[in-house]
Amino acid sequence: MAQNGWQVHKFGGSSLADAHCFRQVADILLSASAPRQAVVVSAMGGVTDALLGLVAVAEHTPGQIAPRLDALGARYRATVDDLLGDGEATDGQRPPNPVRDALLESFAADLSDAADVLQAISLVRAAADRSRDLVAGFGELWSARLLAAYLEQESAARNAGRSASWLDARELIVVEHGEMGPGVLWERSRANARQCFADDREGIVVVTGFIASDPDGLHTTLGRNGSDYSASILAALLAADAITIWTDVDGVMSADPNRVPDATVIGDLSYNEAMELAYFGARVIHPQTMSPAIERSIPIWIRNTFNTAARGSRIGRSDGVEKGIKGVTSVDDVALVNLEGAGMIGVPGTADRLFGALRDAGISVILISQASSEHSICFAIPGRNGGEVEAVVRQAFHGELEQGLIQSIEVQENCSIIAVVGDGMAGLAGIAAKFFGTFGAAGISVKAIAQGSSERNISAVIAREDVTRALRAAHSGFYLSAKTISVGLVGPGHVGGALLDQIAAEARRLHDEFALDFRVRAIATSTRMHLAERSVELANWRSIFEQDSEPLDWKVFAAHVNADHLPHAAIVDCSASDDVANRYLDWFRDGIHVVTPNKKAQSGPLEYYDRLHRERRKHNAHFLYETTVGAALPIIGTLRDLRQTGDEIISIEGVFSGTLAYLFNVFDARKPFSTIVREARDAGYTEPDPRDDLSGMDVARKVIILAREMGLRLELADLTIESLVPDGLGGGSPDEFLVALKDYDDVMARRWQQASEAGQILRYVGRLDKDGTATVRLEALPADHAFSNMNLTDNIVRYVSRRYHDNPLVVQGPGAGPAVTAAGVFADLLRLATYLGASR
Ligand code: ADP
Ligand code: ASP
Ligand code: MG
Repeated sequence: MAQNGWQVHKFGGSSLADAHCFRQVADILLSASAPRQAVVVSAMGGVTDALLGLVAVAEHTPGQIAPRLDALGARYRATVDDLLGDGEATDGQRPPNPVRDALLESFAADLSDAADVLQAISLVRAAADRSRDLVAGFGELWSARLLAAYLEQESAARNAGRSASWLDARELIVVEHGEMGPGVLWERSRANARQCFADDREGIVVVTGFIASDPDGLHTTLGRNGSDYSASILAALLAADAITIWTDVDGVMSADPNRVPDATVIGDLSYNEAMELAYFGARVIHPQTMSPAIERSIPIWIRNTFNTAARGSRIGRSDGVEKGIKGVTSVDDVALVNLEGAGMIGVPGTADRLFGALRDAGISVILISQASSEHSICFAIPGRNGGEVEAVVRQAFHGELEQGLIQSIEVQENCSIIAVVGDGMAGLAGIAAKFFGTFGAAGISVKAIAQGSSERNISAVIAREDVTRALRAAHSGFYLSAKTISVGLVGPGHVGGALLDQIAAEARRLHDEFALDFRVRAIATSTRMHLAERSVELANWRSIFEQDSEPLDWKVFAAHVNADHLPHAAIVDCSASDDVANRYLDWFRDGIHVVTPNKKAQSGPLEYYDRLHRERRKHNAHFLYETTVGAALPIIGTLRDLRQTGDEIISIEGVFSGTLAYLFNVFDARKPFSTIVREARDAGYTEPDPRDDLSGMDVARKVIILAREMGLRLELADLTIESLVPDGLGGGSPDEFLVALKDYDDVMARRWQQASEAGQILRYVGRLDKDGTATVRLEALPADHAFSNMNLTDNIVRYVSRRYHDNPLVVQGPGAGPAVTAAGVFADLLRLATYLGASR
């Protein structure tokens, strides 16, 4: 038995793709302190595929053998030159480099051997397994030799004092192929190990992955991705302390990162969990890798060759590993077979015969589900066997079929299995409910289900076309905070911009304290948009938008916000646009929630309003618009609370415009009204065109919103509106208007005078009665009226209800301005998160 002290590393094809990768690998190995390192290598990325491709070419189109071999040769030589080259001599002759020359010589010999084997295959047009294995295994020989040579060179150059050599695993690992795949002949392999790793052997030994010998000493392989297995066999032979599998991701991830952008690294997992994940297609590790390591409790680390700072994943014994869901994974191509018949009820041995027949036909069964009535058996097999399975089953149940004891055999091809994996899932209530619930919500139908009795895996069979969506939905159901919301913002102006700044400032706190994760992933103006995959870096959103935006496309925008790997999507409309409001319907239909201070949808035609709310309910979308009236003041919320708790609203009156509140707070006829309007505009208290405020339309819209909230079916046309824009001044520029308004200063002054003499004050008031009478106009109110005592741009609303009758309920406070409005929208977003994450 070789002595301890060996560290085993394995570098996969992705870590050995080109010269740059080899350099990175050498850095890792030469900077490690262990004196004895055994390094298992795969073929350079893509080389095994290319070699197997050559075998197929030899079988079908032998004419292509030579050019394909040339391409492989060119790639390898270029890498060798890059790593071991020492420049061109002036005469075009390369200076002698014995190491490189020897390497290229053996490579040339291998290529010519490969060409011979391929030639032989092409003659019979069929490759024997042995020939295929021989050709496929060259890649590992080439990369092992090259890495050893490069390590020698680098060690010398760096004075690292580390020797490097390479070893052909066929001299070491002996396997026998059985039904379960290759099994190691430990005694023979151990004897080989004693020879190859003599007590005094030190330094770095590069060992070919993937290839091995069979009991007769002939070439064989451990199957695709078998180098992981090689590494763990070697670790067992050397009684190594640990195995490190170096690849191109930071560890084993909660789902295939190519399909689920939000997948995260799993820090620690048990052997069994890793095995389930691997079996179900997580390419990052090969399932057989586990057994030699488990027997000797050798931990397996998965680490990133290109990001050595990351800790990686540790696969080990289950003690100390957190229980619960670890990953979501899939087998992409399966066929589902359903066998049905009353004749199977209570007949012993049916399953035995069925699976016996499948085994004899070499078809492996991936999943079985039998209803307890035994009326039907359903099982999944690899997609490639989908065509033959029916005949196999028919043959096995020939008699029963004839007698009608079995009624049907149904084969559904193009299915996939999706599975959640984790130790001790059974102990955690609700996992299956969540798993299937996510499919329900995503509209994915489940064809069959199975829970392994290990309770480490729950699987579902679905249509193949749904698999990526299913992976994402299940992953987000289990992994993301229930309050992860993909947010798209429309209208990054005063309010929208302030909102983005507020979210930026609070994001971390919300995440840490409340598990809230707002991902602003899209921003749109009326003409352009910026989309971010994960989330816009909010600290710099202005410059990001300026530098990187594309023409607006609403469909693309909404689809991006509504990403299926995130649990929820919301669009925040901070525009004042009809056009945007008209899109809510489509968004609701897609299940996108809407949060907005834009009044247009809620105060537009009733017909659209009704449709909007119908669709919203149908698709479980939320619509939050508290800021459409009185900015962040709780005006709509209060009204709702009253009604929902059974109170009856008798009337609502209020000053709903901060601008008009300000104008009449200040106006006392000492200064002309037109001057006050001009000053207010210059101070930014009015819209750029003050007529937008003075017309009363903005107030009228708010009154409509409240009316509908009260259950009154009013249209804008049903309101009596007093506009403060005198007749005939509707046209012309804002400045021309302000000049013309002077002619009406006297009229305004007189109204103030009259009111004042009667002990009254002027206020622009919206009123609404439960019988549907609604007015918006300038009123003279008693000086001690609740509306007289208002600050600057305050809004005030007074609710008279059955409960609040003699002493009405009043809500008052600043009701305008970008910062408070944005804060109100923000509060609505938080409310949305609460609705969505209510179960957490
Ligand atoms: P190597 O060449 O190092 O053997 P592989 O390509 O065989 O690497 O495996 C690593 C790849 O596996 C990753 O790049 C990733 O795309 C894929 N993968 C699939 N599922 C997972 C998962 N659950 N965790 C990590 N990687 C995964
Ligand atoms: N090179 C082999 C393959 O691509 C083995 C491995 O990389 O693990 O399957
Ligand atoms: Mg691999």
